[in-house]
Amino acid sequence: MKVVTLASSSKGNCILVFNENTKILIDAGIKLAEINAKLKALNIEPGEINAILVTHEHSDHVKSVGAMCRKFGTRVYVFNEAKQEIVKTFGNVDEFKIVETFLVPFQIGEFIIKPFKVPHDSKCCVGYSISENDKKISIATDIGFVSGEILSELKGSLLVVLESNHDEQMLIDNPNYPAILKNRILSNHGHLSNINCAKAIEYLCGFGLKQVVCAHLSEENNTPSLCFNTIKKYLFNKNIIVGENVKVDIASPNKIGTIFNIVSSIN
Ligand SMILES: [Zn+2]
Ligand SMILES: [Zn+2]
Repeated sequence: MKVVTLASSSKGNCILVFNENTKILIDAGIKLAEINAKLKALNIEPGEINAILVTHEHSDHVKSVGAMCRKFGTRVYVFNEAKQEIVKTFGNVDEFKIVETFLVPFQIGEFIIKPFKVPHDSKCCVGYSISENDKKISIATDIGFVSGEILSELKGSLLVVLESNHDEQMLIDNPNYPAILKNRILSNHGHLSNINCAKAIEYLCGFGLKQVVCAHLSEENNTPSLCFNTIKKYLFNKNIIVGENVKVDIASPNKIGTIFNIVSSIN
């Protein structure tokens, strides 16, 4: 199983999880032409994508889901509680292509997928754990706070793509953000800060976590180096050495990221 971010920011999100026989996207929140070009750069035809797993109805996650479904007949998996809101954003699609999911594992090709709820200001937002044999990875972005329930879902993952949206002080000091927006982002249904991402990593390191991909960084209230250094320093103070005990990568907002090959030790 391999994992690569195709885009990750408040402006658009799309993650590819694939092996030889099974290829899935988590969200398709960038333009269709961009998805097609990035897949082709990875030697994957868009028609080979077996499914899109949608996290929630915000446009930075669903922008091209309907278009992919129409153009390539891609199946779309949506969580039952948010189905109406999500499907509304698709435009006209064949309803037989839409698969409703629940809080139970299901199979797509060679992967076992388990959705779990995360707190966010959408109708209902989910993260996903994806397993191939005994290897598990998890994806969780758009999270107000990391609940105990989320930690128990992420536990045992070799790799997590985890939101590290903002530096709290940088957000608070941002003169271009109205107070109402700051409060929304900082709330329990907003987005996850660098420090809260670091705290989750600290916990997960006790359960075999080898690789973190920090994702959904705000382009106004964070920088890749601030994100990386905040996490590295926090973990250092907890006796976890980034680069030795756990690796930390920052997803690019708009470029194809590092391709992670999930084997027992991650390459
Ligand atoms: Zn988002
Ligand atoms: Zn969102």
